Amino acid sequence: MIHFDFDHSYARELPGAWQAAQPETPSAPALLYWNAALADELGLGVSQAGEAELAKLFSGAELPVGSQPIAQAYAGHQFGGLSPSLGDGRALLLGEVIDKNGLRRDIAFKGSGRTAFSRRGDGKAAVGPMLRELILGEAMQALDIPATRALAVVATGEAVQRERPLPGAVLTRVAASHLRVGTFQYFAIHGETGMLRKLADYTLARHYPELARQDGRYLKLLQAAAERQAALIARWMHAGFIHGVMNTDNMALSGETIDFGPCAFMDAHHPDTVFSSIDHNGRYAYGNQPAIAQWNLARFAETLLPLISPDDPAAAVPAATEIIEGFAERYQALWLAQARRKLGLLDAKPADLQLTEDWLALLAAYGVDHTLAWRYLADEAEGKSERLAALFPSPDVLEPWLKQWHNRHLPRTRRPQDIAAAMRRENPLYIARNHLVEEALDAASEHGDMGPTLKLLEVLRDPFNEREGLARYALPAAPEVAEGYRTFCGT
Ligand code: AMP
Ligand code: MG
Repeated sequence: MIHFDFDHSYARELPGAWQAAQPETPSAPALLYWNAALADELGLGVSQAGEAELAKLFSGAELPVGSQPIAQAYAGHQFGGLSPSLGDGRALLLGEVIDKNGLRRDIAFKGSGRTAFSRRGDGKAAVGPMLRELILGEAMQALDIPATRALAVVATGEAVQRERPLPGAVLTRVAASHLRVGTFQYFAIHGETGMLRKLADYTLARHYPELARQDGRYLKLLQAAAERQAALIARWMHAGFIHGVMNTDNMALSGETIDFGPCAFMDAHHPDTVFSSIDHNGRYAYGNQPAIAQWNLARFAETLLPLISPDDPAAAVPAATEIIEGFAERYQALWLAQARRKLGLLDAKPADLQLTEDWLALLAAYGVDHTLAWRYLADEAEGKSERLAALFPSPDVLEPWLKQWHNRHLPRTRRPQDIAAAMRRENPLYIARNHLVEEALDAASEHGDMGPTLKLLEVLRDPFNEREGLARYALPAAPEVAEGYRTFCGT
């Protein structure tokens, strides 16, 4: 029998923040994907287990010994409107393990059946969206963007009913935690200040231990969480990543990207880019993400007021507001620091902000591919302009900006090839392009063929090194394909 060294700190320390639940038993579990490297990092001790056994363990057919499955409670603002009671409607936390680096990680199922929070949902998930979460998570990991990871994807052998019947799957997700802004909102809405304090202390101990014993720790929690979000969103923006559903229940206090349902990487750079089929007003468009993160943090701040200033919560408003307002500046500073590295600069000058904004405005004006433009800018450092110029309608439109960029590198103290190499370490060539992701999901979901998914994962795990034979993985889809691209929430 497989036994995991599970701990259950969330269940133990936060009674009232979850409901016990059991996964459904799938009729014919079959392993689609297994992340052996991640299992090793987690110290799971399953290296002897065969595929059939792993399929059972990671689908609910036969839980690892030591599991204590629970559905976590949370609320959330969805598209700006408050839902007081959401919770894990199709997810279960099995437990936590301490990984090889000493970090506590949640191991959770998604798609394992109904819970007390399922409302009208079936608690299930389809193969396609679970593989999307796998692919995007691994792509983010390789780009050094904090994100939850997929340990396993198991086909259940059963159909889930969506617009049409789709093959069902259970994803095993690994996360630094599943503590969300919405978790705090759940207790704030119900006026449970005692639980809120326990939750805040738990969050501090787990994610910000250096602050846990300090005076004024709840205000510091807000500050630290805002800092992590600023860093995360800055990285999303540079990667051209669009989360798609930045509801407050999908913002993790660990600073990891979580719950990426209809997420996607943008091809042509434009702030208004939206892929999600349900985001009719573009609330979660690419260019809105920093402002939405700030809005979500303001909702988080509201929950903390009675902890920051127990006798008079209103008295905490000015200090909390200062932090929320400061988010914009922190975000911009972190974003600009990364922009400089992407531009091949080692030092900082005030004009760099304008230089970067002008560059991005050019990309937006001519619908230029975000990833390739940054990548091919590295060629320019070596005096090669063909690939970059070919992305624009004519080299003339780019020339004035390029001149500024070249001037910014004066006096050149580094060798051109060193600048180019440094830029290529910051600007990926291979991203999870929508048409490639769709192709992979389609093969797996419609034809049971995991080949394209595995190949795509292999490419995405090394995004910065250009390799022979992978040209098609670097290119955007034809405009007519990209034009109407939509992603779905995956429920
Ligand atoms: P999401 O948009 O996936 O972050 O989910 C929002 C809320 O809906 C969460 O409370 C989920 O647990 C719940 N939910 C989503 N899909 C389902 C489903 N198929 N069955 C039950 N609950 C679901
Ligand atoms: Mg969610």
